[in-house]
Amino acid sequence: MKKIRGILWMLCLAACVCFCMPQKAYAKAGDGAGIAVNVHTFRDGWLGSKADGTMINNGQMPTALCMEAEGRPEGVGGGVAYQVNLSGYGWLDPVSDGRETGSMEDAMLESVKVWLTGEMEQKYDVYVRVFQNGSWTGWSKNGEKAGTDGVGTHIDGVCVSLTDKDAGEPGAAAAAGSLGAVSMGAFDPSRPMIALTFDDGPKASVTNRVLAALESVGGRATFFMVGSNVGSNADCVRRMVADGCQVGNHNWNHENLTKETKSETVSTVTRTNDAIEAACGVRPVVMRPPYGAVDAASKVTLGELGMAAVIWNVDTLDWKTRNAQNTVTHILNNVKDGDIILMHDIYDATATAVEAVVPALVARGYQLVTVSGLAAARGGMVPGGLYGRFRP
Ligand code: ZN
Repeated sequence: MKKIRGILWMLCLAACVCFCMPQKAYAKAGDGAGIAVNVHTFRDGWLGSKADGTMINNGQMPTALCMEAEGRPEGVGGGVAYQVNLSGYGWLDPVSDGRETGSMEDAMLESVKVWLTGEMEQKYDVYVRVFQNGSWTGWSKNGEKAGTDGVGTHIDGVCVSLTDKDAGEPGAAAAAGSLGAVSMGAFDPSRPMIALTFDDGPKASVTNRVLAALESVGGRATFFMVGSNVGSNADCVRRMVADGCQVGNHNWNHENLTKETKSETVSTVTRTNDAIEAACGVRPVVMRPPYGAVDAASKVTLGELGMAAVIWNVDTLDWKTRNAQNTVTHILNNVKDGDIILMHDIYDATATAVEAVVPALVARGYQLVTVSGLAAARGGMVPGGLYGRFRP
């Protein structure tokens, strides 16, 4: 019996005290603490530890999970405990601090509870939500159940986030780790916001000017990088992450997704993600298809890779005009709340345009946010989705 074997597996795993292997925390609490989560799916096994706030949903049913506190200050004791409701079995015994719970077989999770222990409990709140019936639930706090159990409705995804005690629900800024494990910083989801995006780089002489312009106003942007440019510009990539910008994928050598076979896309996109992660520790979850070319098959492939496709709705044509004033004028004449604006950080004229337009946009009241930040404030993204703007 598959399910019996699953239970035996679980008991064995619990007895062996298997730990997840978290990579890096992009934390939510003010001091940098977070909860890293690893999810097991029947087809792909363990997906790997994901940072605090990541909306983990690769389109397959989770069957098991584990969590671990990450990045907390020295001397803060305690940890994180969690409990899952497994279809056909009900609530399993709670486990904590990296121990796996669930099934290695195909039994489905229906709901999840997460809470803190010891000093962690005194210092922070923990929130969990699940993807179920086609959407993300609201946040459940400090041991409250997330998801509906007992009616055979499985969950498709899970997201866990730590906050400072009594700081309130992870807001748009917090949830911005969604499909983009990057700390997005604080912004006000009720105010206008746009996502500046830069393709085809990085190119140090241009990208560093763009980053400096953003730094001067505390703005963020998203960089869709050509994988083959990454290794020689790793300092730029690390500076993006340090600034709270989002790293994105623009394929290894600017290949058109619709002209690649599925296995070619898996190879070139994965190679690019690997290069970016090696440079900065963050694995991209957003893809800008070169030429904006994406079809049904490539969306499916991106979904299987856990990525969303992000195009744009304001095209500056900076690559064509190479004229800074044209780019500035085009943006200021067209920009609206929720826009995704396309530029290329490989032209000097684009850097000049950014130096002018960034303060002008801020003066008009726009918050400069990442794609995932914008998405989180406006309904979110799912792997395999295609997005061109996020209107309020
Ligand atoms: Zn491009």
